[in-house]
Amino acid sequence: MWTATAFLLVATVLGGEEPIQADFVIRGAMLYDGSGQPGVKGDLAIGGDRIVGVGRFQVAGRPREIDGAGLVVCPGFIDLHTHSDVPLTVSTTKANLCYLMQGVTTVVTGNCGAGPVDVADYFKKMENSGIGSNVIHQVPHNDVRKTVTGNVNRAPTAEEMKRLEALVDKAMTDGAWGLSTGLYYTPGSYATTEEIIALAKVAARHGGFYASHMRDEGTGLLASVTETLRIGKEAIIPVHISHLKSFGPKNWGRAADAIALINQARANGQAVSADQYPYWASSTSLAAEVIIPKYREGSAQDFQSRLSDPVQGPKIRESIQDKLVSLDAGPNIHIATYKPNPAWQGKTLDAVAREKKSDLLDAVLDIERHGGAQVVNFSMSPEDVSLIMKQPFVATASDGSSQIPSDTVPHPRSYGCFARKIGRYAIQDKVITLEHAIRSASGLPADILKLPERGSLKAGYYADVVVFDPKTFRDQATFEKPHQYATGVRYLFVNGKLAIEDRKYQNVLAGKVLRHQ
Ligand SMILES: [Zn+2]
Repeated sequence: MWTATAFLLVATVLGGEEPIQADFVIRGAMLYDGSGQPGVKGDLAIGGDRIVGVGRFQVAGRPREIDGAGLVVCPGFIDLHTHSDVPLTVSTTKANLCYLMQGVTTVVTGNCGAGPVDVADYFKKMENSGIGSNVIHQVPHNDVRKTVTGNVNRAPTAEEMKRLEALVDKAMTDGAWGLSTGLYYTPGSYATTEEIIALAKVAARHGGFYASHMRDEGTGLLASVTETLRIGKEAIIPVHISHLKSFGPKNWGRAADAIALINQARANGQAVSADQYPYWASSTSLAAEVIIPKYREGSAQDFQSRLSDPVQGPKIRESIQDKLVSLDAGPNIHIATYKPNPAWQGKTLDAVAREKKSDLLDAVLDIERHGGAQVVNFSMSPEDVSLIMKQPFVATASDGSSQIPSDTVPHPRSYGCFARKIGRYAIQDKVITLEHAIRSASGLPADILKLPERGSLKAGYYADVVVFDPKTFRDQATFEKPHQYATGVRYLFVNGKLAIEDRKYQNVLAGKVLRHQ
Protein backbone atom coordinates (compact mmCIF):
# COMPACT_ATOMS: atom_id res chain seq x y z
CA MET A 1 0.00 0.00 0.00
CA TRP A 2 2.94 2.32 0.64
CA THR A 3 3.98 4.31 -2.34
CA ALA A 4 7.68 4.05 -3.03
CA THR A 5 9.02 7.56 -2.90
CA ALA A 6 11.55 8.35 -5.54
CA PHE A 7 11.69 12.02 -4.63
CA LEU A 8 12.51 13.77 -1.40
CA LEU A 9 9.92 15.89 0.27
CA VAL A 10 10.95 19.50 0.25
CA ALA A 11 10.98 20.52 3.86
CA THR A 12 8.79 23.48 4.70
CA VAL A 13 9.37 25.18 8.01
CA LEU A 14 8.53 28.50 9.54
CA GLY A 15 11.63 30.66 9.90
CA GLY A 16 14.03 29.14 7.37
CA GLU A 17 17.00 26.98 8.45
CA GLU A 18 16.90 27.83 12.15
CA PRO A 19 15.77 25.09 14.60
CA ILE A 20 12.04 25.52 15.12
CA GLN A 21 10.09 25.82 18.35
CA ALA A 22 7.47 23.09 18.55
CA ASP A 23 5.17 21.42 21.07
CA PHE A 24 4.90 18.13 19.16
CA VAL A 25 7.02 16.38 16.56
CA ILE A 26 5.74 13.30 14.77
CA ARG A 27 8.75 11.37 13.45
CA GLY A 28 9.10 9.08 10.46
CA ALA A 29 5.47 8.93 9.33
CA MET A 30 4.08 8.80 5.81
CA LEU A 31 2.93 12.34 5.10
CA TYR A 32 -0.01 12.80 2.73
CA ASP A 33 -0.46 16.53 2.19
CA GLY A 34 -4.06 16.37 0.95
CA SER A 35 -3.23 17.51 -2.60
CA GLY A 36 -3.57 14.05 -4.13
CA GLN A 37 0.20 13.51 -4.24
CA PRO A 38 1.46 10.14 -2.96
CA GLY A 39 2.74 10.02 0.60
CA VAL A 40 6.37 10.71 1.46
CA LYS A 41 8.24 9.77 4.60
CA GLY A 42 9.01 12.66 6.92
CA ASP A 43 8.37 14.51 10.15
CA LEU A 44 5.71 16.99 11.12
CA ALA A 45 5.95 19.60 13.86
CA ILE A 46 3.14 21.45 15.61
CA GLY A 47 3.60 24.60 17.70
CA GLY A 48 0.65 26.39 19.31
CA ASP A 49 -2.30 26.10 16.97
CA ARG A 50 -0.16 25.82 13.82
CA ILE A 51 1.82 23.34 11.79
CA VAL A 52 5.38 24.67 12.05
CA GLY A 53 7.46 22.09 10.19
CA VAL A 54 6.87 19.50 7.46
CA GLY A 55 9.48 17.12 6.05
CA ARG A 56 12.98 17.38 7.55
CA PHE A 57 13.99 20.11 9.98
CA GLN A 58 15.79 20.80 13.26
CA VAL A 59 13.79 21.43 16.39
CA ALA A 60 14.73 23.54 19.36
CA GLY A 61 13.90 22.69 22.97
CA ARG A 62 12.22 19.45 23.93
CA PRO A 63 8.92 19.01 22.14
CA ARG A 64 6.91 15.88 22.76
CA GLU A 65 7.98 13.22 20.26
CA ILE A 66 5.48 10.86 18.63
CA ASP A 67 6.81 7.82 16.78
CA GLY A 68 5.12 7.89 13.40
CA ALA A 69 6.61 4.67 12.04
CA GLY A 70 3.97 2.80 10.05
CA LEU A 71 1.44 5.63 10.52
CA VAL A 72 -0.16 8.04 8.08
CA VAL A 73 -0.22 11.77 8.84
CA CYS A 74 -2.60 13.93 6.83
CA PRO A 75 -4.75 17.06 7.16
CA GLY A 76 -7.77 16.71 9.45
CA PHE A 77 -10.81 15.75 7.41
CA ILE A 78 -13.39 18.32 6.34
CA ASP A 79 -16.97 17.05 6.09
CA LEU A 80 -18.87 19.28 3.66
CA HIS A 81 -22.22 17.73 4.43
CA THR A 82 -23.52 17.14 7.95
CA HIS A 83 -26.78 17.73 9.77
CA SER A 84 -25.08 18.44 13.10
CA ASP A 85 -26.66 21.92 13.44
CA VAL A 86 -28.69 21.06 16.53
CA PRO A 87 -26.39 18.33 17.97
CA LEU A 88 -23.48 20.78 18.15
CA THR A 89 -25.52 22.99 20.46
CA VAL A 90 -26.51 20.09 22.76
CA SER A 91 -24.24 19.14 25.67
CA THR A 92 -24.20 15.37 24.97
CA THR A 93 -23.22 15.71 21.31
CA LYS A 94 -21.31 19.01 21.02
CA ALA A 95 -17.95 17.17 21.20
CA ASN A 96 -18.77 15.61 17.81
CA LEU A 97 -17.05 12.44 18.99
CA CYS A 98 -18.37 10.11 16.28
CA TYR A 99 -16.63 12.42 13.78
CA LEU A 100 -13.42 13.01 15.77
CA MET A 101 -12.95 9.24 15.95
CA GLN A 102 -12.92 9.23 12.12
CA GLY A 103 -10.33 12.01 11.91
CA VAL A 104 -12.80 14.78 11.05
CA THR A 105 -11.73 18.21 12.33
CA THR A 106 -14.21 20.47 10.48
CA VAL A 107 -17.88 19.94 9.68
CA VAL A 108 -20.23 21.98 7.52
CA THR A 109 -23.83 22.50 8.67
CA GLY A 110 -26.91 24.13 7.15
CA ASN A 111 -27.22 21.40 4.53
CA CYS A 112 -30.17 20.33 2.35
CA GLY A 113 -31.74 23.73 3.02
CA ALA A 114 -32.14 22.95 6.73
CA GLY A 115 -30.59 24.60 9.76
CA PRO A 116 -30.36 27.81 11.76
CA VAL A 117 -31.30 30.98 9.87
CA ASP A 118 -30.00 33.32 12.58
CA VAL A 119 -26.32 32.61 11.97
CA ALA A 120 -24.97 35.05 14.57
CA ASP A 121 -27.09 33.47 17.30
CA TYR A 122 -26.10 29.91 16.23
CA PHE A 123 -22.41 30.80 16.24
CA LYS A 124 -22.67 32.51 19.65
CA LYS A 125 -24.36 29.44 21.17
CA MET A 126 -21.53 27.18 20.01
CA GLU A 127 -18.83 29.59 21.09
CA ASN A 128 -20.38 29.86 24.55
CA SER A 129 -20.63 26.13 25.19
CA GLY A 130 -17.67 24.85 23.15
CA ILE A 131 -17.47 22.36 20.26
CA GLY A 132 -15.21 19.42 19.49
CA SER A 133 -14.55 20.24 15.84
CA ASN A 134 -14.53 23.36 13.71
CA VAL A 135 -17.84 24.41 12.17
CA ILE A 136 -18.76 26.09 8.91
CA HIS A 137 -22.36 27.04 8.19
CA GLN A 138 -24.50 27.68 5.11
CA VAL A 139 -27.73 29.68 4.81
CA PRO A 140 -30.49 27.07 4.57
CA HIS A 141 -33.11 27.94 1.96
CA ASN A 142 -35.95 25.79 3.33
CA ASP A 143 -35.75 27.33 6.76
CA VAL A 144 -35.32 30.83 5.34
CA ARG A 145 -38.45 30.29 3.27
CA LYS A 146 -40.38 28.77 6.19
CA THR A 147 -39.51 31.86 8.23
CA VAL A 148 -41.03 34.14 5.60
CA THR A 149 -43.85 32.20 3.89
CA GLY A 150 -44.36 29.05 5.97
CA ASN A 151 -44.58 25.64 4.29
CA VAL A 152 -46.69 26.85 1.36
CA ASN A 153 -46.92 25.67 -2.23
CA ARG A 154 -46.75 29.01 -3.99
CA ALA A 155 -44.25 31.59 -5.15
CA PRO A 156 -43.27 34.28 -2.66
CA THR A 157 -44.78 37.72 -3.28
CA ALA A 158 -42.43 40.51 -4.35
CA GLU A 159 -42.36 41.76 -0.78
CA GLU A 160 -41.65 38.27 0.59
CA MET A 161 -38.90 37.84 -1.99
CA LYS A 162 -37.21 40.97 -0.64
CA ARG A 163 -37.35 39.49 2.88
CA LEU A 164 -35.87 36.19 1.64
CA GLU A 165 -33.02 38.09 0.01
CA ALA A 166 -32.49 40.15 3.14
CA LEU A 167 -32.27 37.02 5.32
CA VAL A 168 -29.71 35.45 2.99
CA ASP A 169 -27.75 38.71 2.92
CA LYS A 170 -27.79 38.96 6.73
CA ALA A 171 -26.66 35.33 7.16
CA MET A 172 -23.80 35.81 4.68
CA THR A 173 -22.77 39.02 6.45
CA ASP A 174 -22.77 37.11 9.75
CA GLY A 175 -20.30 34.54 8.39
CA ALA A 176 -22.17 31.87 6.41
CA TRP A 177 -20.15 30.40 3.53
CA GLY A 178 -22.88 29.84 0.98
CA LEU A 179 -26.52 29.08 0.25
CA SER A 180 -27.83 25.54 0.53
CA THR A 181 -31.08 24.19 -0.88
CA GLY A 182 -33.10 21.04 -0.32
CA LEU A 183 -35.36 21.11 -3.37
CA TYR A 184 -36.43 17.53 -2.66
CA TYR A 185 -38.00 18.73 0.59
CA THR A 186 -40.70 21.28 1.32
CA PRO A 187 -41.02 24.19 0.90
CA GLY A 188 -37.89 24.10 -1.29
CA SER A 189 -39.63 21.92 -3.85
CA TYR A 190 -42.24 24.66 -4.29
CA ALA A 191 -39.56 27.16 -5.31
CA THR A 192 -38.93 27.92 -8.97
CA THR A 193 -35.43 27.89 -10.41
CA GLU A 194 -35.72 31.67 -10.73
CA GLU A 195 -36.32 32.06 -6.99
CA ILE A 196 -33.15 30.07 -6.27
CA ILE A 197 -31.15 32.05 -8.83
CA ALA A 198 -32.20 35.32 -7.18
CA LEU A 199 -31.11 34.09 -3.74
CA ALA A 200 -27.90 32.52 -5.07
CA LYS A 201 -27.02 35.94 -6.51
CA VAL A 202 -27.09 37.34 -2.98
CA ALA A 203 -24.70 34.60 -1.79
CA ALA A 204 -22.52 35.25 -4.86
CA ARG A 205 -22.18 38.94 -3.95
CA HIS A 206 -20.51 37.77 -0.73
CA GLY A 207 -18.17 35.37 -2.53
CA GLY A 208 -20.16 32.33 -1.37
CA PHE A 209 -21.07 29.09 -3.11
CA TYR A 210 -24.30 27.24 -3.84
CA ALA A 211 -24.85 23.67 -2.54
CA SER A 212 -27.93 21.63 -3.33
CA HIS A 213 -29.77 18.50 -2.40
CA MET A 214 -31.32 18.51 -5.84
CA ARG A 215 -35.01 18.26 -6.73
CA ASP A 216 -34.82 14.68 -7.94
CA GLU A 217 -31.93 12.24 -7.60
CA GLY A 218 -33.87 9.45 -9.33
CA THR A 219 -35.73 9.57 -12.65
CA GLY A 220 -35.16 13.33 -12.82
CA LEU A 221 -31.43 13.19 -12.00
CA LEU A 222 -30.20 14.71 -15.26
CA ALA A 223 -32.85 17.44 -15.26
CA SER A 224 -31.81 18.26 -11.68
CA VAL A 225 -28.11 18.44 -12.56
CA THR A 226 -29.06 20.70 -15.49
CA GLU A 227 -31.06 22.95 -13.15
CA THR A 228 -28.12 23.17 -10.73
CA LEU A 229 -25.74 24.08 -13.55
CA ARG A 230 -28.16 26.76 -14.76
CA ILE A 231 -28.33 28.28 -11.27
CA GLY A 232 -24.53 28.43 -11.23
CA LYS A 233 -24.32 30.09 -14.64
CA GLU A 234 -27.07 32.65 -14.09
CA ALA A 235 -26.11 33.58 -10.53
CA ILE A 236 -22.40 33.41 -11.41
CA ILE A 237 -21.65 31.22 -8.41
CA PRO A 238 -19.70 27.95 -7.89
CA VAL A 239 -22.18 25.07 -7.56
CA HIS A 240 -21.86 21.98 -5.42
CA ILE A 241 -24.07 18.89 -5.73
CA SER A 242 -24.71 17.31 -2.33
CA HIS A 243 -24.56 13.51 -1.93
CA LEU A 244 -24.41 12.74 -5.66
CA LYS A 245 -26.20 9.49 -6.45
CA SER A 246 -28.55 7.74 -8.87
CA PHE A 247 -31.47 6.98 -6.60
CA GLY A 248 -33.88 4.04 -6.80
CA PRO A 249 -33.51 0.61 -8.48
CA LYS A 250 -35.08 1.91 -11.71
CA ASN A 251 -32.27 4.44 -12.11
CA TRP A 252 -29.26 2.30 -11.29
CA GLY A 253 -26.44 2.64 -13.78
CA ARG A 254 -27.22 6.28 -14.60
CA ALA A 255 -24.51 7.90 -12.47
CA ALA A 256 -22.29 7.92 -15.57
CA ASP A 257 -24.74 10.22 -17.38
CA ALA A 258 -24.74 12.69 -14.48
CA ILE A 259 -20.95 12.60 -14.35
CA ALA A 260 -20.79 13.27 -18.10
CA LEU A 261 -23.00 16.36 -17.71
CA ILE A 262 -20.85 17.66 -14.86
CA ASN A 263 -17.60 16.99 -16.74
CA GLN A 264 -18.93 18.87 -19.76
CA ALA A 265 -19.74 21.91 -17.60
CA ARG A 266 -16.33 21.72 -15.94
CA ALA A 267 -14.65 21.51 -19.33
CA ASN A 268 -16.53 24.70 -20.27
CA GLY A 269 -15.01 26.44 -17.28
CA GLN A 270 -17.89 26.25 -14.83
CA ALA A 271 -17.05 25.69 -11.15
CA VAL A 272 -18.90 22.46 -10.29
CA SER A 273 -18.18 19.97 -7.54
CA ALA A 274 -20.01 17.27 -5.61
CA ASP A 275 -19.79 15.13 -2.51
CA GLN A 276 -20.70 11.56 -1.65
CA TYR A 277 -20.99 9.16 1.28
CA PRO A 278 -19.55 5.72 0.44
CA TYR A 279 -22.62 3.55 1.07
CA TRP A 280 -25.36 1.96 -1.03
CA ALA A 281 -28.07 3.18 1.30
CA SER A 282 -29.42 6.69 1.83
CA SER A 283 -31.39 8.02 4.78
CA THR A 284 -34.13 10.57 5.33
CA SER A 285 -37.70 10.70 6.63
CA LEU A 286 -40.20 8.11 5.44
CA ALA A 287 -42.53 10.94 4.41
CA ALA A 288 -39.92 12.51 2.12
CA GLU A 289 -39.28 9.12 0.52
CA VAL A 290 -42.85 8.13 -0.30
CA ILE A 291 -45.12 11.21 -0.21
CA ILE A 292 -44.67 13.57 -3.13
CA PRO A 293 -44.20 17.27 -2.20
CA LYS A 294 -47.58 18.45 -3.43
CA TYR A 295 -49.23 16.40 -0.66
CA ARG A 296 -46.76 17.62 1.99
CA GLU A 297 -47.77 21.28 2.07
CA GLY A 298 -48.45 22.63 5.56
CA SER A 299 -48.22 20.42 8.65
CA ALA A 300 -48.48 16.70 9.37
CA GLN A 301 -52.03 17.50 10.56
CA ASP A 302 -52.84 18.99 7.16
CA PHE A 303 -51.59 15.80 5.53
CA GLN A 304 -53.94 13.73 7.70
CA SER A 305 -56.96 15.86 6.75
CA ARG A 306 -56.03 15.61 3.07
CA LEU A 307 -55.80 11.84 3.46
CA SER A 308 -59.35 11.60 4.84
CA ASP A 309 -60.72 13.85 2.10
CA PRO A 310 -62.94 11.72 -0.19
CA VAL A 311 -61.46 13.27 -3.35
CA GLN A 312 -57.80 13.71 -2.42
CA GLY A 313 -57.44 10.68 -0.12
CA PRO A 314 -57.57 7.97 -2.79
CA LYS A 315 -55.18 9.95 -5.03
CA ILE A 316 -52.66 10.25 -2.21
CA ARG A 317 -52.87 6.54 -1.44
CA GLU A 318 -52.36 5.70 -5.10
CA SER A 319 -49.36 8.02 -5.33
CA ILE A 320 -47.74 6.50 -2.21
CA GLN A 321 -48.44 3.00 -3.52
CA ASP A 322 -46.65 3.89 -6.79
CA LYS A 323 -43.65 5.15 -4.84
CA LEU A 324 -43.52 2.01 -2.70
CA VAL A 325 -43.45 -0.10 -5.85
CA SER A 326 -40.88 1.99 -7.73
CA LEU A 327 -38.51 1.99 -4.73
CA ASP A 328 -39.12 -1.70 -4.04
CA ALA A 329 -39.65 -0.27 -0.56
CA GLY A 330 -40.74 -3.42 1.31
CA PRO A 331 -37.30 -5.04 1.56
CA ASN A 332 -35.19 -1.91 0.87
CA ILE A 333 -36.50 0.58 3.42
CA HIS A 334 -35.54 0.00 7.06
CA ILE A 335 -36.85 1.95 10.05
CA ALA A 336 -34.03 3.94 11.69
CA THR A 337 -35.88 5.97 14.34
CA TYR A 338 -39.49 5.54 15.39
CA LYS A 339 -40.31 6.73 18.90
CA PRO A 340 -43.86 5.26 19.18
CA ASN A 341 -42.47 1.74 18.72
CA PRO A 342 -38.67 1.43 19.11
CA ALA A 343 -38.96 -2.33 18.53
CA TRP A 344 -39.49 -1.57 14.83
CA GLN A 345 -36.15 0.25 14.60
CA GLY A 346 -33.83 -1.80 12.39
CA LYS A 347 -36.72 -3.67 10.73
CA THR A 348 -37.72 -3.51 7.07
CA LEU A 349 -41.08 -2.10 6.04
CA ASP A 350 -41.96 -5.65 4.94
CA ALA A 351 -41.28 -6.96 8.44
CA VAL A 352 -43.32 -4.15 10.01
CA ALA A 353 -46.26 -4.86 7.69
CA ARG A 354 -46.05 -8.60 8.46
CA GLU A 355 -46.06 -7.87 12.17
CA LYS A 356 -49.10 -5.61 11.80
CA LYS A 357 -50.77 -8.12 9.47
CA SER A 358 -51.41 -5.22 7.10
CA ASP A 359 -50.22 -4.30 3.64
CA LEU A 360 -47.24 -2.01 3.05
CA LEU A 361 -49.34 1.07 2.29
CA ASP A 362 -51.33 0.81 5.53
CA ALA A 363 -48.14 0.23 7.53
CA VAL A 364 -46.70 3.45 6.07
CA LEU A 365 -49.88 5.44 6.71
CA ASP A 366 -49.99 4.14 10.29
CA ILE A 367 -46.40 5.30 10.88
CA GLU A 368 -47.24 8.73 9.43
CA ARG A 369 -50.34 8.96 11.63
CA HIS A 370 -48.06 8.52 14.66
CA GLY A 371 -45.58 11.24 13.76
CA GLY A 372 -43.49 9.58 11.05
CA ALA A 373 -40.13 7.82 11.08
CA GLN A 374 -36.56 8.25 9.91
CA VAL A 375 -35.59 5.50 7.50
CA VAL A 376 -32.58 3.95 5.81
CA ASN A 377 -33.17 3.08 2.15
CA PHE A 378 -30.95 0.73 0.13
CA SER A 379 -31.45 2.96 -2.86
CA MET A 380 -28.13 2.85 -4.76
CA SER A 381 -26.10 0.42 -6.83
CA PRO A 382 -22.55 -0.48 -5.74
CA GLU A 383 -21.28 0.25 -9.27
CA ASP A 384 -22.68 3.79 -9.25
CA VAL A 385 -21.20 4.41 -5.80
CA SER A 386 -17.72 3.28 -6.91
CA LEU A 387 -17.88 5.24 -10.16
CA ILE A 388 -18.83 8.48 -8.39
CA MET A 389 -16.06 7.95 -5.83
CA LYS A 390 -13.40 7.87 -8.54
CA GLN A 391 -14.23 11.35 -9.89
CA PRO A 392 -11.69 14.05 -9.05
CA PHE A 393 -14.44 16.59 -8.22
CA VAL A 394 -16.18 14.40 -5.61
CA ALA A 395 -15.43 15.10 -1.95
CA THR A 396 -16.17 12.72 0.90
CA ALA A 397 -19.04 13.88 3.10
CA SER A 398 -21.17 11.94 5.56
CA ASP A 399 -24.68 13.46 5.42
CA GLY A 400 -24.82 12.30 9.05
CA SER A 401 -24.88 14.06 12.39
CA SER A 402 -23.13 14.09 15.73
CA GLN A 403 -24.70 11.39 17.88
CA ILE A 404 -24.02 9.09 20.77
CA PRO A 405 -25.00 5.43 21.16
CA SER A 406 -28.73 4.83 21.75
CA ASP A 407 -31.42 2.27 20.87
CA THR A 408 -32.01 3.78 17.42
CA VAL A 409 -30.72 2.10 14.24
CA PRO A 410 -29.59 5.03 12.07
CA HIS A 411 -27.46 5.03 8.95
CA PRO A 412 -23.88 4.10 9.96
CA ARG A 413 -22.36 7.04 8.03
CA SER A 414 -22.21 9.32 11.09
CA TYR A 415 -19.71 6.94 12.67
CA GLY A 416 -18.03 5.39 9.66
CA CYS A 417 -18.03 7.53 6.50
CA PHE A 418 -14.39 8.64 6.37
CA ALA A 419 -12.89 5.46 7.83
CA ARG A 420 -14.91 3.46 5.31
CA LYS A 421 -13.82 5.44 2.27
CA ILE A 422 -10.14 5.54 3.27
CA GLY A 423 -9.84 2.26 5.18
CA ARG A 424 -12.10 0.02 3.16
CA TYR A 425 -12.38 1.50 -0.35
CA ALA A 426 -8.76 2.73 -0.64
CA ILE A 427 -6.49 0.71 1.67
CA GLN A 428 -8.33 -2.61 1.75
CA ASP A 429 -10.21 -2.93 -1.57
CA LYS A 430 -8.07 -0.52 -3.65
CA VAL A 431 -11.06 0.89 -5.55
CA ILE A 432 -9.28 4.27 -5.30
CA THR A 433 -5.75 5.21 -4.25
CA LEU A 434 -5.00 6.31 -0.71
CA GLU A 435 -3.85 9.74 -1.90
CA HIS A 436 -7.10 10.21 -3.85
CA ALA A 437 -9.16 9.19 -0.79
CA ILE A 438 -7.24 11.56 1.48
CA ARG A 439 -7.52 14.45 -0.99
CA SER A 440 -11.28 13.93 -1.30
CA ALA A 441 -11.51 14.34 2.49
CA SER A 442 -9.14 17.29 2.96
CA GLY A 443 -7.59 19.31 0.13
CA LEU A 444 -10.61 19.04 -2.16
CA PRO A 445 -13.26 20.16 0.33
CA ALA A 446 -10.93 23.01 1.42
CA ASP A 447 -10.66 24.07 -2.25
CA ILE A 448 -14.43 23.87 -2.72
CA LEU A 449 -14.96 26.07 0.35
CA LYS A 450 -11.97 28.31 -0.50
CA LEU A 451 -11.09 27.64 3.13
CA PRO A 452 -7.89 29.46 4.06
CA GLU A 453 -5.06 27.79 6.01
CA ARG A 454 -6.67 24.38 6.41
CA GLY A 455 -6.91 21.20 4.35
CA SER A 456 -3.19 20.82 3.69
CA LEU A 457 0.01 19.94 5.56
CA LYS A 458 1.83 23.23 5.22
CA ALA A 459 3.94 25.16 7.68
CA GLY A 460 1.83 28.09 8.86
CA TYR A 461 -1.48 26.31 8.37
CA TYR A 462 -3.73 25.51 11.34
CA ALA A 463 -2.74 22.25 13.01
CA ASP A 464 -5.82 20.21 12.14
CA VAL A 465 -3.94 16.94 11.74
CA VAL A 466 -4.91 13.29 11.84
CA VAL A 467 -2.48 10.44 12.56
CA PHE A 468 -3.93 7.03 11.69
CA ASP A 469 -2.76 3.46 11.47
CA PRO A 470 -3.51 2.23 7.93
CA LYS A 471 -3.77 -1.36 9.16
CA THR A 472 -6.62 -0.60 11.56
CA PHE A 473 -8.30 2.55 10.20
CA ARG A 474 -11.73 1.08 9.42
CA ASP A 475 -15.41 1.80 9.94
CA GLN A 476 -16.96 -0.48 12.56
CA ALA A 477 -20.50 0.87 12.25
CA THR A 478 -22.77 -1.49 10.31
CA PHE A 479 -26.39 -1.17 9.22
CA GLU A 480 -27.32 -3.67 11.94
CA LYS A 481 -25.12 -2.09 14.66
CA PRO A 482 -24.48 1.51 13.60
CA HIS A 483 -23.45 2.99 16.96
CA GLN A 484 -19.82 1.83 16.71
CA TYR A 485 -16.93 4.28 16.67
CA ALA A 486 -14.37 3.95 13.88
CA THR A 487 -10.99 2.46 14.76
CA GLY A 488 -7.46 3.40 13.79
CA VAL A 489 -7.13 7.11 14.55
CA ARG A 490 -4.14 7.21 16.91
CA TYR A 491 -3.86 10.98 17.35
CA LEU A 492 -6.05 13.86 16.28
CA PHE A 493 -5.08 17.51 16.57
CA VAL A 494 -7.78 20.16 16.36
CA ASN A 495 -6.26 23.66 16.18
CA GLY A 496 -3.04 22.22 17.66
CA LYS A 497 -4.76 20.59 20.65
CA LEU A 498 -4.75 16.81 21.10
CA ALA A 499 -8.40 15.77 20.89
CA ILE A 500 -7.53 12.07 20.52
CA GLU A 501 -4.43 10.60 22.04
CA ASP A 502 -3.52 6.95 21.76
CA ARG A 503 -7.00 6.23 20.35
CA LYS A 504 -8.80 7.90 23.28
CA TYR A 505 -10.84 11.10 23.35
CA GLN A 506 -9.22 13.66 25.64
CA ASN A 507 -12.37 15.58 26.65
CA VAL A 508 -11.09 18.57 24.74
CA LEU A 509 -13.39 21.04 22.96
CA ALA A 510 -10.85 22.58 20.60
CA GLY A 511 -13.15 23.40 17.69
CA LYS A 512 -13.76 26.92 16.41
CA VAL A 513 -16.59 28.57 14.58
CA LEU A 514 -15.13 29.52 11.21
CA ARG A 515 -16.70 32.67 9.79
CA HIS A 516 -16.65 33.43 6.09
CA GLN A 517 -14.78 36.67 5.47
ZN1 LIG B 1 -29.78 15.89 1.57
